[in-house]
Amino acid sequence: MDYKKLGLKAGLEFHQRLDTHKLFCNCSSVLEENPSVEFTRRLRPTASELGKVDPAALNEFLSKKTFNYQGFENSVCLVEQDEEPPHEVNKQALEIALKIGLMLDMNFFDQVQVMRKTVIDGSNTAGFQRTMMLGHNGELKTPYGEVGILGIFLEEESSGIVGEKGKAAYRLDRLGIPLIEIATDLIPEPTPEKVKDVALYLGSLLRTTRQVQRGQGTIRQDVNISIKDGARVELKGVQDIRMLEQVIEFEVQRQLKLLELKDEMKKRKLEKPKVKPIDVTEIFRDTKNEFIKKAIHSNGVVKLLVLKNYKGVIGAELNPNRRFGSELGDYAKAVGVGGIIHTDENLGKYKIQNEVLEIVAKNKLEESDAFILIAESEDKVDNAFNAISKRIGAAFSEIPNETRNVMPDGVSMYMRPLAGASRMYPETDISYVNITQKMLGELKKQLPKTPEQISAELEKKHRLSKQLAGIMMLSKNYELFESLVGKGHDARLVAPTLEYTLTELRRQGVDVEVFTEAHFDALFKALKENKFAKEAIPKVLAAWASKPHYNIVQVIEEAGLGGVSEKEIRDYAVGAMKKIDTSGPRAFNMLMGDLMKKYRGKADGALIARIAKEVLS
Ligand SMILES: [Zn+2]
Repeated sequence: MDYKKLGLKAGLEFHQRLDTHKLFCNCSSVLEENPSVEFTRRLRPTASELGKVDPAALNEFLSKKTFNYQGFENSVCLVEQDEEPPHEVNKQALEIALKIGLMLDMNFFDQVQVMRKTVIDGSNTAGFQRTMMLGHNGELKTPYGEVGILGIFLEEESSGIVGEKGKAAYRLDRLGIPLIEIATDLIPEPTPEKVKDVALYLGSLLRTTRQVQRGQGTIRQDVNISIKDGARVELKGVQDIRMLEQVIEFEVQRQLKLLELKDEMKKRKLEKPKVKPIDVTEIFRDTKNEFIKKAIHSNGVVKLLVLKNYKGVIGAELNPNRRFGSELGDYAKAVGVGGIIHTDENLGKYKIQNEVLEIVAKNKLEESDAFILIAESEDKVDNAFNAISKRIGAAFSEIPNETRNVMPDGVSMYMRPLAGASRMYPETDISYVNITQKMLGELKKQLPKTPEQISAELEKKHRLSKQLAGIMMLSKNYELFESLVGKGHDARLVAPTLEYTLTELRRQGVDVEVFTEAHFDALFKALKENKFAKEAIPKVLAAWASKPHYNIVQVIEEAGLGGVSEKEIRDYAVGAMKKIDTSGPRAFNMLMGDLMKKYRGKADGALIARIAKEVLS
């Protein structure tokens, strides 16, 4: 795809948890196993200092919501529960953030105001998230060109969510973990791959501080993209940087399909939905559909929106397994409706054949028509149809600017309209944070090596190939690599094992996540002691993955990969030599062939070659 021609624009918001205690109290930032306390809260809206948030909407939203929370032994105190004002900003977190800012050539503010950003989904007990902008107007120099940095922020992480919808609870162990947010300017001449590469590079830059958290969930990217004639869309919550490319490709595809759909709707001379939805509850009185039956029994209604000549439009595919109808369903879900039923899907599964026939007859619907059904309480149904009608209406002229949630497979769901700037107001419980030149001067002396310096060192000092050095520098295994090499293991063995062998094993379905540093340490130690051959590393790891509690000797024995002694090989070689013409030019090759046939995977190839040479001479 020609992204230049499409007018792709893209910018990143990079989030990374810092490896220090919580931002506004002394609690641990390490996530815990089991909650020590559970409680329920009802959030009540109060007028914010700027009063910009629509109080009616907020009230409506919050009055019906109670939230469940889980507290933990070491990671939750009264601050996370919003029973005590926040403490001073964690100094170490501030220093880490400033260091990262220095690496990005940011212009810092000398006085920083902590701000409250309204968050009304319950993920923060206070009803807002605290954030502070430390600096602006910086630059990230990457191998793919320079990227402007608009701002660097230090903020508190939100709660995690567990459990099913309806019974969900927020985990407060995550709330308040220091999080750094880096917002890039538009990336020059972006392609999905380039955006991914820039994000990978930024991630490796942050890791050079050794003061950022590692592992699942500790980084998160939002990506803002648009294409010509399309919309500006914020895609939220990409946890695996390598998914970024796919996420952007899907969003470009979605917008292109919506543009096609716009033309199609105009070509068909369709009309925007104007008529009000019709109440068809009576038709469903004796329905066999459990969901609709339940909705009616709890005083709900079933309503119908007729869409003249719309057949096929609602079912138009935008992304794999995502239709225009799925988008409309998202809009309905955003106002609290479970889902929608529409005629461009297979209606068989809903067991409503008779009702559909009656609807068609009563409304004189034709083959080319479509309709949407929603069953819920009346106010929710009306709200949902309102949102759906507006969304369909908008499809004639534009693609709406939206914030969308990224799913694990890379497609996204509508979450809410793009947020405005009115969500912020000052935090009055904490005084200003001062950033002095003296502080910055001290921190400048502590700056880590850049990714380029690390990469050059890997090539020079550890004699890795340029390619492998580049991979290792960006790898999440980099620290593991360094630690193992620090223990005296051969970098040229460790790097390909961590980067190539593990990837290959993962591809084969081997659970390589079970391995710890101790496993690798034992593996390379055993190799050094010739307990098995280098060529057998993949086999040893594959066997070990299913029994990670074994020690290396047990694994080698059980997998039949036990090494053979030098003496055994030598004795065999002496015997084998008698069967060949040792004076001929092919003697070495013939002997090697025989020996390798017997000892492949059991002894190191170089060792066998040495023995063969010695025996022959
Ligand atoms: Zn705390």
